[in-house]
Amino acid sequence: MTEQSLPYVSTRGSSPELAFTDTMLGGLAPDGGLYVPAHWPALAPSMQSADDGYVALARSVMWPFVAGTLDRVAFDHAVADAYATFDIDDVVSFVELDDDIHLVELFHGPTLAFKDVALQLLGRLFDLELTRRSERVTIVGATSGDTGSAAIEACRDRDTVDIVILHPAGRVSEVQRRQMTTVDAANVHNIAVEGTFDDCQDLLKAMFADVAFRDRVRLSAVNSINWARVMAQIVYYVWTAHHLGPRTTFTVPTGNFGNVFAGEAARRMGLDVGGFLVASNRNDILTRFFRGGALEIAAVQPSLSPSMDIQVSSNLERLLFELYDRDGAAVAALMGGFRSNGRAAVDPHCFARLGGQWHGERLDDTDTLAVIADTHRRHGLLIDPHTAVALGAARRRRDDFDGPLAVLATAHPAKFPDAVEQATGVRPALPERLADLFERPESFVVLPADLGTLQAHVESLVAPRVG
Ligand SMILES: *Cc1c(COP(=O)(O)O)cnc(C)c1O
Repeated sequence: MTEQSLPYVSTRGSSPELAFTDTMLGGLAPDGGLYVPAHWPALAPSMQSADDGYVALARSVMWPFVAGTLDRVAFDHAVADAYATFDIDDVVSFVELDDDIHLVELFHGPTLAFKDVALQLLGRLFDLELTRRSERVTIVGATSGDTGSAAIEACRDRDTVDIVILHPAGRVSEVQRRQMTTVDAANVHNIAVEGTFDDCQDLLKAMFADVAFRDRVRLSAVNSINWARVMAQIVYYVWTAHHLGPRTTFTVPTGNFGNVFAGEAARRMGLDVGGFLVASNRNDILTRFFRGGALEIAAVQPSLSPSMDIQVSSNLERLLFELYDRDGAAVAALMGGFRSNGRAAVDPHCFARLGGQWHGERLDDTDTLAVIADTHRRHGLLIDPHTAVALGAARRRRDDFDGPLAVLATAHPAKFPDAVEQATGVRPALPERLADLFERPESFVVLPADLGTLQAHVESLVAPRVG
């Protein structure tokens, strides 16, 4: 391949540079940092034109990140295939409310959450690269909600991967469990762990820490720190700016900060963005951060918007890296202090680099239900609790911003029917292609929260295919 490839560097500054495909398959950098491009490619004017449709825009916006690694024709096919799985041609749809506030619906993919936008592509890029390398991997993930089903749909029936998803038995909603356990594909394996989501995550970490096991089953992950996921999300910021106009402010319901960081990436590539309003539920570490510059861990509390119930937003480190002017050693020191003390303060000079572009707002569950009810009353529209957190934040802060306010709608209301019904008295219906979800046969095993038992089970699933 003749094209120069863009190198990727770690946010902690002491890992070797990697090419796109190596960061995609590799996960965290060896120094504990996250990979980011060594510089931001510029958005050419032609890349900001949405005239040829979403797929064409996606190909041109993403190609500079990928060039020199994957074959261009194969990449273009992967992008088209990924977005052909969506219910609408141009992936995203817009709903204008009032006060120049617009919902940007990102949930028209196979599993009804915005994670499909990135994962449908990522599954295909994994397959492309692993086929080229003649390799096969075992993707293991833990889910408390939307990621598991989106990852399963992205990986089902692919020859180069097995996917094993752990969920805490009895602690995910029935819609969410069924979206994972009713997928009938030989390479998809669901495990209900007798424990909490934290137990699942601890077991997952322990599996990755066991180097011999990791190598035997060729363990891999598609979690939210994967650069390729952020990359795929940049596209809908450019698309939205084209539709709503320059100086649009984006209100983003935020958990791991992957979604909103994609907006920052678009801005650094030259997109004319008004700013970002980071919306949180009662788990408001980010609201406090954007108000004062201090990061302070608190216990995670369950809410009506479970995909935002986080303690530490892993992708925030990518923004901190920019605020520290790409000084990896300084970021490593900051994150080291944060990890050991549960709190850290960003240098005021670096914090000032946010330049009035970033804002935080939080809504508790009562506020969230009120927004769902109000939106139904005023617009006849059902929205999910994550979207409601963002819309409530946008309404509260409307007067602080000029220009359009885009509210990213991250899940279909039918994914969270109980909260929607509680607020409106109306139970949202699943789209037709999922209407028989509750009749489909489920397949999963229940296992104790024990590392040895889980590892033996994973090996028994993939052993016939390895080696
Ligand atoms: C994952 C998720 C979020 C949070 O996105 P991040 O990229 O983790 O900030 C918000 N809403 C829904 C519905 C999600 O599934």
